[in-house]
Amino acid sequence: MSSDPVTSPIVDAVRFRAGDKVADLNPSATPGFDGAKADAAPVQAARSNRLAELQELLYASSKGRDDARSVLLVLQGMDAAGKGGIVKHVVGAVNPMGVRYTAFGKPTPEELAHDFLWRIRRALPPPGHIGVFDRSHYEDVLIVRVHNLVPPEVWGARYDEINAFERELVDGGMTLVKVAMFISLDEQKKQLLERLDDPTKYWKYNPGDIDERLKWPQYQEAYQAVLDRTSTDYAPWHVVPCDRRWYSRLAVTELLIEALEGLDLSYPPANFDVDAERKRLLES
Ligand code: AMP
Ligand code: MG
Repeated sequence: MSSDPVTSPIVDAVRFRAGDKVADLNPSATPGFDGAKADAAPVQAARSNRLAELQELLYASSKGRDDARSVLLVLQGMDAAGKGGIVKHVVGAVNPMGVRYTAFGKPTPEELAHDFLWRIRRALPPPGHIGVFDRSHYEDVLIVRVHNLVPPEVWGARYDEINAFERELVDGGMTLVKVAMFISLDEQKKQLLERLDDPTKYWKYNPGDIDERLKWPQYQEAYQAVLDRTSTDYAPWHVVPCDRRWYSRLAVTELLIEALEGLDLSYPPANFDVDAERKRLLES
């Protein structure tokens, strides 16, 4: 396994570009990866190892010196797009000590009493950590927009508020990896059916998922607005097809690796005299 920085063709292929249309996306495609599931398995294993190495380096780099950098993985996608699988398989490959995971559901009364970014700020990763958002502040311009949970002028102002917020995070040393996960309606139906067919998956099933599914055209429009209005040079979006889970996992692995390699991390030097300590230890 090489540890040289190599930009994966996947990273380039999934980057959202101005003008890209959600409606044109093929959720079963594997952009930047020319192979099948069996070909991906050894690549995934090697890249998961690389990710684990880099995560340790990120964690170490914040120790004993003033390096406040962190990474925030933002996972947005419809039900059954595979967000949980990314957390289990991709994030699961690294040391949990350095991970701060938060799932964002329907806001509690306390959360609703505050600005929509209040609960988000409280969940940000500390220096040296990888934060993982399973849903995020983007719900406040997705489900909230689709269901008119607040007036249009309120959600309409949030795109600029989100951009300003993310600018602040990036200026503070955070690297954002924003991933929009797209599953086809057919594959979503298959995945939801599996939850109904298997009693060990009932806990994942929510009758409301069907109501959201029926609003796919409205969601498509809301996702398009998110991509058009909040993909910035400092916090760009990535659009990942998710019908083939082996592909989406590999894609998110590559995105995290790229983000971490871009930090040019190094282990902190000893803040003690190594030879003197070795001598002291041996004599102890
Ligand atoms: P799950 O991720 O399957 O546990 O579902 C969480 C649910 O909470 C999804 O239907 C989300 O759309 C919903 N949700 C998350 N954030 C918000 C929000 N800010 N306002 C309303 N609903 C939300
Ligand atoms: Mg769900």
